[in-house]
Amino acid sequence: ELGYINGRFVGLDELVLPIDERGHQFGDGVYEVIRFYDGKPFMLEEHLERLIRSAKAIKLPVKESLADFTELIISAVEKSEIKNCNVYLQITRGIATRNHLFPDAPVSITMTVRHANPIPNEKREKGVDAITHPDERWANCYIKSLNLLPNILAKQTAFEQGCHEAILIKDGYITEGTSSNVYIVQGGEIITTPLTNQILPGITRMAVKKLASELNIPFVEKHFTTAELMEADEIFITSTTAEVLAIVKVDGNIIGSGTPGEVVTRLHQQFQKMVEAL
Ligand code: PMP
Repeated sequence: ELGYINGRFVGLDELVLPIDERGHQFGDGVYEVIRFYDGKPFMLEEHLERLIRSAKAIKLPVKESLADFTELIISAVEKSEIKNCNVYLQITRGIATRNHLFPDAPVSITMTVRHANPIPNEKREKGVDAITHPDERWANCYIKSLNLLPNILAKQTAFEQGCHEAILIKDGYITEGTSSNVYIVQGGEIITTPLTNQILPGITRMAVKKLASELNIPFVEKHFTTAELMEADEIFITSTTAEVLAIVKVDGNIIGSGTPGEVVTRLHQQFQKMVEAL
């Protein structure tokens, strides 16, 4: 496994940032997680477009272009010799004596390349459980920022109740998961929250929209309530690390048949075909 810090490849234990680094002190930065399958990246360009959009949204003066980041990431993965890995890339507003105002310092770019940790087959075949949880996050969740305190608190609450994910609720409507996008299937249609400032535009969500169209399954982007969630035929989540994953129980209520449904199963098969064709 491999680390990278501002132009240097290092061992993970050498990847150390000073205390006056704005990522630590303010969460003043953005990040991406990109999956490589058998040495090939999954939708790298889309991830990097989102990274650059996130950086712009918080006024990070990033000099590197999409092509520069592509080269950097590909070379890191080659150097790591890990064919199935997750690349974590973080950009912060750099290192300067603590002060809320933007420093006159170069941005700091760090990266790790680690072995992927895929969802075990048993979990995928049985589906996982979730809780609902108030969405306590800020107004700009479309930015993939380092500020994840509400997300980790909700995820920990889910874990302590034996659940895989917390589904976040704002004003009675589902926004997304703590680290995933959320979908219901009702009457043969996939329904998911529209892209607003309240959710992260998932790259896997983008993939699933295309896969649904290939399978002729309607993909409807509209708000849905907690009641609709509970009465859904199927629920699933998507993310870079979980891919397409069935939720079979929410707050103790069994969803549909209590096992992964037809739509989520077909979508994940189609997802795997996409991966095989990379
Ligand atoms: N929403 C949130 C809040 C997330 O943290 C993630 C994971 N990055 C996602 C959605 C899914 O995004 P992606 O498919 O790009 O991994």
